[in-house]
Amino acid sequence: MKNWLAAVLAMFTAMFTAMFAAMFTVTLIAVPCVAASPASPASPPPPPNGALQLYFIDVEGGQSTLFVTPDKHSLLVDTGWPDHDSRDAKRIVAAMGMAGISKLDAVLITHYHDDHVGGVAQLVARVPVGEFLDHGPDREAFTGESKDALDAYQHLIASGKYAHRAMHPGDRLPVPGFQATVVSADGQVLDHPLPGGGGTNPFCADAGQKTPDATENARSLGFALQWGPHTRILDMGDLTRDKEKDLMCPQNKLGRIDLLVVSHHGWYQSSSPALVDAIAPRVAVMDNGAVKGGSVPVLDTFRNAGNHPALWQLHYSDEGGARHNTAAPQIANLAGTAQGPDPGYLLRATVSPDGAITVWNSRTGDSRTYPPEHH
Ligand SMILES: [Zn+2]
Repeated sequence: MKNWLAAVLAMFTAMFTAMFAAMFTVTLIAVPCVAASPASPASPPPPPNGALQLYFIDVEGGQSTLFVTPDKHSLLVDTGWPDHDSRDAKRIVAAMGMAGISKLDAVLITHYHDDHVGGVAQLVARVPVGEFLDHGPDREAFTGESKDALDAYQHLIASGKYAHRAMHPGDRLPVPGFQATVVSADGQVLDHPLPGGGGTNPFCADAGQKTPDATENARSLGFALQWGPHTRILDMGDLTRDKEKDLMCPQNKLGRIDLLVVSHHGWYQSSSPALVDAIAPRVAVMDNGAVKGGSVPVLDTFRNAGNHPALWQLHYSDEGGARHNTAAPQIANLAGTAQGPDPGYLLRATVSPDGAITVWNSRTGDSRTYPPEHH
């Protein structure tokens, strides 16, 4: 009898030991799983299969847009501002981390203003760059900070450490994985339509401006990128309305565009209806700052465009106020950031091979998908 009782007690002891051991093991395994959860708004969901990723990095009213293909080829358009303790270079490196890349195949400098080329020295101090692409010689008599930014870039190119190419309208961007055609450079624009372009543009009545722009803006290196059979993306730096007219009137040389990087931070010197209404983007992303770009006339051009493009903004525009800004879920950095430290939230767009576009906001962690539209 005693032996039988002892056997039962031993069995229960063994069972409880095993149960506690199992619970302890589960706890140990579960803790790192919870810590690695991708639910945090700081990390984007994995991109859809075969999608191109675009990271619209907040450089406070400058430009820095990172393009990454599914096989990790990369193109960075502009480098943001200099100074601020390398703020913009650090934000670019953070976006590269989100995209899972540690080097850049190419950096394209749209033009030589310090909100575009300014961060270049801080960037190359942190990540390897394969090649620099630009529009060729500068033709603006710079002074002050823009001169310093240009000097730093020219010094870098003169070092001979980097491949460097000046691009011309009609050239294909020499970046592996990208099918992109230059549409503007050094004040010249395409002299023939892209495939899908070429029709008469009915929106030319108010095109252009009285005085041609004499600055680097009008010399911006712009390109149209084809992704999959149906989808086109346009980025023209700070190209001004006079050059938009050359490109769009009387003939629309671009045709329809699906995803637009809004020119010039949404400032009123760019984004004429002759451009925006004719290319009729499904999705437009504006790299404005709180007090730079985001002009009321441009916000209204997108609001009133006949095809109702979805407008996303890197910042709430103080000038635009409640009446003219896009809806809050489509703004990365909300009102009040001009006065205080800025969290630097970014937007990411993914473009699937079938043409679906999804925009993710790192502030909210939410995404919105726009279905394909074949035209
Ligand atoms: Zn700019």
